[in-house]
Amino acid sequence: MNPVQGFHGCYRRIDLSRGTDELIPIDPEVLTRVLGGVGLGTWILHREAPLGVEPFAAEAPLIFAFSPLVGTGVTTSAKFAVLGKSPLTGGVCDALASSHFAIAGKALGIDALVFVGACASPSEWVNGTLRPTASWGRSAEQVAATLSEEGRVAAIGVAGERRVRFATISADGRHAGRGGLGAVMGAKQLKAVVVRGTVETPVADPERVSELAADLRRRATGASTAKYSELGTIGNLLSFDRLGVLPTRNFQQSHFEGAERLAGERWRAERRHRRASCAHCTIGCEHRYGYRTGDGEEAQVRVEYESVFALGPLCGVDDPDRVLAASRRCDELGLDTISAGATLAFAMECGERGELEGAPRFGEGDRLVEWLDAIAHREGLGDRLAEGSLRLARSLGGDAIDRAPQVKGLELPGYEPRTMQAMALGLAVGTRGADHNRSGAYEADFSEGADRLRGDARSVRLAIESEDRAALLDSLVLCKFVRAAFDDLWAESAALLSAVTGVAFDANSLRAASRRVVELRKAFNLREGGRPEDDRLPRRFLDEPIPSGPAAGATLPAERLAEMIRGYNRGRGWDAQGRLDERALDDLAEALGLDARILKSDRASRGAGQAGSRG
Ligand code: SF4
Repeated sequence: MNPVQGFHGCYRRIDLSRGTDELIPIDPEVLTRVLGGVGLGTWILHREAPLGVEPFAAEAPLIFAFSPLVGTGVTTSAKFAVLGKSPLTGGVCDALASSHFAIAGKALGIDALVFVGACASPSEWVNGTLRPTASWGRSAEQVAATLSEEGRVAAIGVAGERRVRFATISADGRHAGRGGLGAVMGAKQLKAVVVRGTVETPVADPERVSELAADLRRRATGASTAKYSELGTIGNLLSFDRLGVLPTRNFQQSHFEGAERLAGERWRAERRHRRASCAHCTIGCEHRYGYRTGDGEEAQVRVEYESVFALGPLCGVDDPDRVLAASRRCDELGLDTISAGATLAFAMECGERGELEGAPRFGEGDRLVEWLDAIAHREGLGDRLAEGSLRLARSLGGDAIDRAPQVKGLELPGYEPRTMQAMALGLAVGTRGADHNRSGAYEADFSEGADRLRGDARSVRLAIESEDRAALLDSLVLCKFVRAAFDDLWAESAALLSAVTGVAFDANSLRAASRRVVELRKAFNLREGGRPEDDRLPRRFLDEPIPSGPAAGATLPAERLAEMIRGYNRGRGWDAQGRLDERALDDLAEALGLDARILKSDRASRGAGQAGSRG
């Protein structure tokens, strides 16, 4: 038995080209050092991804990584991480989804499922059998309905099949959304992965785990998470608008005159509403609202702030039915709502400037679904939009790149960087690109500890802390929304993990593990050609003050952001360029049994460049 309980001590590696299926042992020491989920998946990515591999190449791995808490009953722990090399950024991509898939997958008796190679024709992998699929062309939801009797299903939609660079992987209606891993799965012609395991995960002290889980569950149903259960994340939209942090019309404004129409508070009063939750979650932040489809039918869709911001204010659309229909269509097609909305919004601005013929127009809510279909099917201009905003900007040339709402190729989430400057730092330095989930620095901006309009050393310190906390939660894997239920995240997580694994973790060892996971992600980007200048924001945010609204005049001077980035690199112990020194890489390689030569490979200096980083 694996000496570290809570794990199975191996991952399953399936080569779709060669038809092999093998169990690869994982050193128990490695498991205690990178935990599970994102940490374990990044470690596997380092081992399995050949240096400089193209994200769509057959050799590129697609990794489903589980965690030590899956199956323990700890609230919000039924989650898994998907990892690979992002076709948007060319760097590390880790995306999370909540689902029974996590529990059924880990019960195969493994800590991760890794697919390499590619199928010769559209296929599905069902509990160890690779077979032709009849579901090519269908939505992930339809695939799941077809295959549900055989197990829990993770699948791609049409966008993944067509290699749209921001395609998602879906399970139980939740999405591993950011970074385009659905397109990596599509490039392998793998429509669905179906799992149904029966192997129990050994737990060191089941009674103690139950006790700690019950305590966390009690705290996670109280005031600490009430905002999620009452309104969900859509509750942010009106307050963000009032604070001047609601990105509008491709980040040209930070206040939307139509925000009231898109407010969750109003929808709650006026629309058919149902609350739900992910598997094994007692918080239940999921809110479904009714809307009228284009045919006048009534339908319902799960609503998130990020989807509404991206398909609403960012595209200048204030018609709730249109925004909700577009969000639902993204789910059906398998499109990341943030990247889809942001790429459309960028195209809208380019169209207004006369730089893109036939472009969509701001406020054209009635055509949103049509555009999403064109993107997912790569038809007409949709084919260019399917490449994401960075590649579209490069194809347009001129100064379009300064207005493309992306960092490292990944489109920005719904936080205006000029009025949230700790978040601006988090977006600039994020290894996944412009991302709010791996950084979480928005917390710092809304805290007493930092001035959100004037980022400084305090913002830097808090941004680093929030990134470390996120690395822990993403490796355990727990939902971010449960964090407020902990009095001391580090110590309480250590107690939980110790009871599950039988290994004596403490707050310090978990802090070290989290920092290691952050470094491991950074080291992957560096070995794949990431450059110091990739840590930046588009010029728009540094050159243009916010023109109107509650935050009129707010600026983020380039030098202020540069100083914060230098402070971040110092705080991480990296050099001024954000590189890990030789010794740090040697330590990482030794602690994790990785090849030091590959870790130290510096492709940028050889002119290779990270795929998404140029321009
Ligand atoms: S809090 Fe929301 S997102 Fe998190 S696990 Fe529960 S329902 Fe899912």
